[in-house]
Amino acid sequence: MTDCLFCKIVAGEIPSQTVFEDDDFFAFRDISPKADTHLLLIPKKHIVNLDDLQPEDEALMGKMMLTVPKLAKQENLEGYRTITNTGAKGGQEVFHMHFHILGGSKLPGF
Ligand code: IMP
Repeated sequence: MTDCLFCKIVAGEIPSQTVFEDDDFFAFRDISPKADTHLLLIPKKHIVNLDDLQPEDEALMGKMMLTVPKLAKQENLEGYRTITNTGAKGGQEVFHMHFHILGGSKLPGF
């Protein structure tokens, strides 16, 4: 999608602190971290949020879930929190689906 911030990050049009990339996913450090480590994991495919998922995305979403612990291990996180916000009322500000991965020091209860 041409006017999507995260699509532009994947395309290298906007710089990011990239921590991971493969054929399907891209991960980078959040510009405004809410924890010692705050990563954003996104599919390269422009999916708006969970509400936008289609049946054909099932395998991609399974792979996305499996990518989370890989990134946590790469970042030496002993524990972490994974969040995805859906819709403006769910706190979503960037409308390209992403998992926040937060960790480092002990997180407060949720
Ligand atoms: P949301 O509120 O769940 O949509 O989260 C969007 C996240 O993207 C926020 O935590 C922002 O700090 C983060 N963010 C916005 N612009 C950038 C950027 O250019 N690079 C990295 N993170 C960004």
